[in-house]
Amino acid sequence: MKVIKTIGQLRRYRGGLTGSVGLVPTLGFLHQGHLSLVNKSVTDNDYTIVSVFVNPTQFGPDEDFESYPRDTGRDLALLEAAQADAVFLPDAAEVYPPSADTTVVPGQIAERLEGASRPGHFRGVATVVLKLLNLAQPHNAYFGQKDAQQLAVIRKIAADLNVPVRIVAMPTVREADGLAMSSRNSYLSPTERQAATVLYRSLKMAEEFISRGQTDADIIKNRMAAMIEAEPLAEIDYISIAEAGSLRETVDIKQPFLVSLAVKIGRTRLIDNFISE
Ligand code: AMP
Repeated sequence: MKVIKTIGQLRRYRGGLTGSVGLVPTLGFLHQGHLSLVNKSVTDNDYTIVSVFVNPTQFGPDEDFESYPRDTGRDLALLEAAQADAVFLPDAAEVYPPSADTTVVPGQIAERLEGASRPGHFRGVATVVLKLLNLAQPHNAYFGQKDAQQLAVIRKIAADLNVPVRIVAMPTVREADGLAMSSRNSYLSPTERQAATVLYRSLKMAEEFISRGQTDADIIKNRMAAMIEAEPLAEIDYISIAEAGSLRETVDIKQPFLVSLAVKIGRTRLIDNFISE
């Protein structure tokens, strides 16, 4: 496995490849969710490039950029075992030299939900992902459904800016009790870890209501809110039932829809969702 630190090295490495290339962008501190993307890319492509980069521009000033968990040695061992071909592990100064002041501003779809709670977040995501796509020039790029809005934003950028890549979505990988795997789960104390299952439990309840024919989004959101509010360590940021394409909030639920939520458990902000078929 090749460990690549600079843009020049990545360009040279990519230039020497013949055959299909898959890209898996990550912030690192890898878990089985990330590895499911890597495994899929390794199966689908002749070469898999994984980026491990805690992208400063997608964190707000009061967010956890500094404390975001990092373990490069462990990440490299996991990627080697998963048979990734190359890991792009740049410094922030390599990705954002002082002269760089161009950013990618995604449209409407980035303004709701996470975009409303985390101003500028998707601008940071869009900019770094477009840069990674331009550098790695993959045939396929892999993203998790866990970050449903991020996936929608990236699909939109690829379509709107005519990026020649296929965006592949992979299902959310969960712990045995349903908690979606996330690098941020490492922040949780044992009691918080227990409380964090409320996100998944509330989504399962919503899924059950909808499968029984309930189409009133407010009724379902109120039931989810009541369940989460009963958990003393949980504080709701948002609960949304939206049209899956536009992410516009829906009143009367129709397919395809996305139920998503952001909840703080203690000081840790977690997100989760489920999407209709
Ligand atoms: P991150 O390092 O959190 O930015 O995640 C990198 C990629 O892995 C993104 O496309 C995420 O959506 C995806 N991912 C993160 N957690 C999971 C999970 N539990 N299941 C599936 N994909 C995930």
